[in-house]
Amino acid sequence: MKTEANRRPDPIFTTDESHWQAVAERDERADGAFFFAVRTTGVFCRPSCASRAPRRENVEFFPTTDAAEAAGYRPCKRCRPTSLPRELAIVERACKVLDADPQQRMTLAQLSDAVHVSPFHLQRLFSRIVGISPRQYQAAQRAGVLRDALQRGRDVTRATHDAGFGSPSRMYEAVPAELGMTPSAYKRQGAGLTVRYASADTPLGTVLVAATDKGVCKIAFGDDAGTLVEQLAANFAQAERVEDAAKMAPFIAQIRAYLQGTRERFDLPLNIGATAFQRRVWDALRRIPYGQTRSYTDIAESLGSPRAVRAVANACASNPVALAIPCHRVIGKDGAIAGYRWGKQRKETLLETERKHHPADKVA
Ligand SMILES: [Zn+2]
Repeated sequence: MKTEANRRPDPIFTTDESHWQAVAERDERADGAFFFAVRTTGVFCRPSCASRAPRRENVEFFPTTDAAEAAGYRPCKRCRPTSLPRELAIVERACKVLDADPQQRMTLAQLSDAVHVSPFHLQRLFSRIVGISPRQYQAAQRAGVLRDALQRGRDVTRATHDAGFGSPSRMYEAVPAELGMTPSAYKRQGAGLTVRYASADTPLGTVLVAATDKGVCKIAFGDDAGTLVEQLAANFAQAERVEDAAKMAPFIAQIRAYLQGTRERFDLPLNIGATAFQRRVWDALRRIPYGQTRSYTDIAESLGSPRAVRAVANACASNPVALAIPCHRVIGKDGAIAGYRWGKQRKETLLETERKHHPADKVA
């Protein structure tokens, strides 16, 4: 399975020299691409900030405002690097245009005409805020339609057409990165793989753990083993599925220890497919410390995509490995438990367990 999807370097602002040149020229085109901080003032800015030019030796660069704040810098009051009203408005307009008809195919030039921004600037802003390029965004929309159709059992050619791809070959070049594997492999539902699994009773109900040779591919909770095994069979219909309690025992032992509050971290190799955006969200979730929570908005902001709250919630809901990616630590902004893929009650219990074993930690 492909897990590192769509990682492409920024077209120009990739080196410290190019960063510094943009700062020296107050280049607006660099806004959103990176931030710079000044050691002598403890403040960080957008590249175009109109404040007095700093000296090169006092400057450091950060890819996100989050990284700058983590390094101890405060946002500049003048250029307000943490608020992105203008950039967001542009990207929101672009998303609206693309969302209006997921099956249409828009070039970057057409899209930039529609939102009145240069193609170059739009491309970079969009990637910075949404996490993927407009082209990838469109491919992801079509992949979503395709995935649904394939999972409902449609054949590849028909599903391809319905998802707005002109031909299977077009779709094959565009989609693999979004599905995490080629559509036929997805359709094949794990054909060629051996998936070992076991289920066990826990205080949280029945847990099912499944793994390929490369790592854990599923951790799910449910009320009975039969249903969980059926779900596994649907996800990996064509894989060779082998019940193997001995091989899964170390993983299940970790889960039990966690549920008893005697273990805070998992040491599990994971083998899961992810889109570029899911990967970023899941990485952010894994950085939430035991005993703490974050809101969906916090996560979206930490990714530099403050408006992507719903996309973050979707990525949480599609987490294939309960606990190992702690999506249960994400709650509503108002403190509400919100949803959980494996049931709200379980999420409440998990948060309670963590709080109990870490009573001193503040729950953010
Ligand atoms: Zn500034």
